[in-house]
Amino acid sequence: MASAAAISSSITSRSLLSGDFKAALIASIRHPEPSIATSAASGGPRPRRMLARPCCAVEPTKRNDSVVPSAAVAEAANAAVGEEATAPSAAVDYEELNKALENASPLEIMDRALDMFGNEIAIAFSGAEDVALIEYAKLTGRPFRVFSLDTGRLNPETYKFFDAVEKHYDIHIEYTFPDAGEVQALVRSKGLFSFYEDGHQECCRVRKVRPLRRMLKGLRAWVTGQRKDQSPGTRANIPLVQVDPVFEGVDGLGSLIKWNPVADVEGKDIWNFLRTMNVPVNSLHSQGYVSIGCEPCTRPVLPGQHEREGRWWWEDATAKECGLHKGNLKQDEAGKLGANGNGVAAANGVDGTVDIFETQAIVNLSRPGIENLLKLEKRQEPWLVVLYAPWCRFCQGMETSYMELAEKLVGSGIKVGKFRADGDQKPFAQKELRLGSFPTILFFPKNTSRPIKYPSEKRDVDSLLAFINALR
Ligand code: SF4
Repeated sequence: MASAAAISSSITSRSLLSGDFKAALIASIRHPEPSIATSAASGGPRPRRMLARPCCAVEPTKRNDSVVPSAAVAEAANAAVGEEATAPSAAVDYEELNKALENASPLEIMDRALDMFGNEIAIAFSGAEDVALIEYAKLTGRPFRVFSLDTGRLNPETYKFFDAVEKHYDIHIEYTFPDAGEVQALVRSKGLFSFYEDGHQECCRVRKVRPLRRMLKGLRAWVTGQRKDQSPGTRANIPLVQVDPVFEGVDGLGSLIKWNPVADVEGKDIWNFLRTMNVPVNSLHSQGYVSIGCEPCTRPVLPGQHEREGRWWWEDATAKECGLHKGNLKQDEAGKLGANGNGVAAANGVDGTVDIFETQAIVNLSRPGIENLLKLEKRQEPWLVVLYAPWCRFCQGMETSYMELAEKLVGSGIKVGKFRADGDQKPFAQKELRLGSFPTILFFPKNTSRPIKYPSEKRDVDSLLAFINALR
């Protein structure tokens, strides 16, 4: 077993393992606040994606599934910070904060995250070595929440591990499950192992990404166990904290903060930490598994093999993100993925990007289809059409609400469609459909040829319904 001193120097910048965690915590809290530039201080507006407002309520409120430390521990933690709330009231520049945290330890970063977001942040726990995050959270002495995605395809060992973790930390993990109807439709139409045939993206979208999206919609921040050394192809540039480039939080797109406290920690140091702290681990690790996900998509690796070679081994390395961290893929890399991860031409044949808005309630319009819609002076029914690009994070962000809206409108006499308007279609869409940026939403009334552009950036179901009802 590694010595505490060795681990301390390799993982943290402070003496976290010197036997007095509280002392380390106090030190981490009382050092001067990192320089957080507000938009006002920086002298001008910054791009929206850089800024997000943290929650107002720093003090954790009551909750059912959260981890609540003993009153004594919580009291001690509060005393350590002198009851000071550190959540800034102005918008935070997370790029600046990321820089300020460059030399901070995972414990300091975790403490900062929990302090800023209280009950509105949760740790994403996959059932593997990211249990280290839970340990760090416990060491802060603050209350914290943990959630996990139960895809229905996990190893029995992982389920036992979840149970062991709940007992060890005396917590209730907030399990999140896929939509039963979506799983049923996928399995009935394509079988139980379609991911071996046409890529893992579709199954991951149903079993992981959409449940995650639902979970994150109720949060202002989340914590992940992503590390740079996990995947040189996709994770080499993970920041310690960032405005989530893919998912939306309570306040919509651009408002969710993603913390990656162990981004700079190497796998061996995580393991030294887990061993030293005597933390329960997934028994699959002792069978040669390193990175652990769903049972059919995870295998042990041999000595010297990279851990990601044990995940979706039948696919290209740059495709090895399940969608949970799709923002790690550069646009051109994402574009290489097929409609279902295998290079099959996507909607309109623009290229092979993983498509979105996939439900029977939404008509996938081809170029002739939308041209026809444009020409019709007397349509049989009104249409709502989104002009989108599947790689666009704002389009991804409205996927759930648009699909929900489409399901609601089935049988209402209003058709809902999508038209992929990037690539070769973009000049046409700009000229004929008034495409400005993605997504652009158009309403084609029943008796008028000209489509009406949805003017708002509010893309929730109620706002879109109000728009339709005002025009139908
Ligand atoms: Fe499906 Fe495999 Fe993705 Fe799990 S990891 S959701 S089984 S494709």
